[in-house]
Amino acid sequence: MLMNKKIKINVQNLWFYYNDHPVLEDISLEIPQNTITAVTGPSGQGKSTFLMTLNRLWENIEGPRIKGRIEIRFTSNFQNIYDKRYNVSDLRRQVGMVFQVPNPLPMSIYNNIAFPLKLKGEKNKKLVTFRVEDALKRSFLWDEVKDRLNKDARALSGGQQQRLCIARALVLNPQVLLLDEPTSSLDDTSGRVIEDLLLELKKECTMILVSHYLDQVKRIADSGMVLSNRQMKQQW
Ligand code: ADP
Repeated sequence: MLMNKKIKINVQNLWFYYNDHPVLEDISLEIPQNTITAVTGPSGQGKSTFLMTLNRLWENIEGPRIKGRIEIRFTSNFQNIYDKRYNVSDLRRQVGMVFQVPNPLPMSIYNNIAFPLKLKGEKNKKLVTFRVEDALKRSFLWDEVKDRLNKDARALSGGQQQRLCIARALVLNPQVLLLDEPTSSLDDTSGRVIEDLLLELKKECTMILVSHYLDQVKRIADSGMVLSNRQMKQQW
């Protein structure tokens, strides 16, 4: 099945260093579109760092250095995401990210989801309202929040907050979604809701999921990579 899918992300000979100390060593892999690729492995081995190479988030930190090439096929052609002409804000709209601990902004549920659209300069209020509702529906959250959109998002449960963060990423229609241990801070039931949601999102996104739950990875990932000793090895 995987072999028939088009490649979405192509990582070639990727090296990554913090202050000249290598964390990723000569990693090459191809990630097919509309799949979930899991990255597992002991902690401190570079899984979060690997995710940050895909949206250039590490560039906000002092000291790191990168070597190699990462291409993503946003249109019909592959685009080198480290090309100097490539705009990092555009990249981060296309490559969304969800973190381990949900991080709602200190504002209403509605404004949390509308925020990225406003940041992008979207002025059409009707369109913003439509996109907010659509993102909340796609994140399996709409029914639970539709009557309290103006309430503070921080009053939601942990699982709801994480779905809110997924909705905030989805409102920009990203093609790639990076998920860094998205269920680690949640109870099992809330975690399962997120798993079902990610399976549904395969229709629209290519996902890379860092997880240390092997049972979760087996349930929802199409392929599994293990990162250890600076190397990435395919497990299945
Ligand atoms: P994982 O996600 O597998 O737990 P990380 O990507 O967070 O691993 O970290 C990989 C290694 O890089 C660790 O040894 C960590 O201490 C180191 N590291 C992470 N962030 C920084 C940083 N900003 N500066 C220096 N070293 C870092």
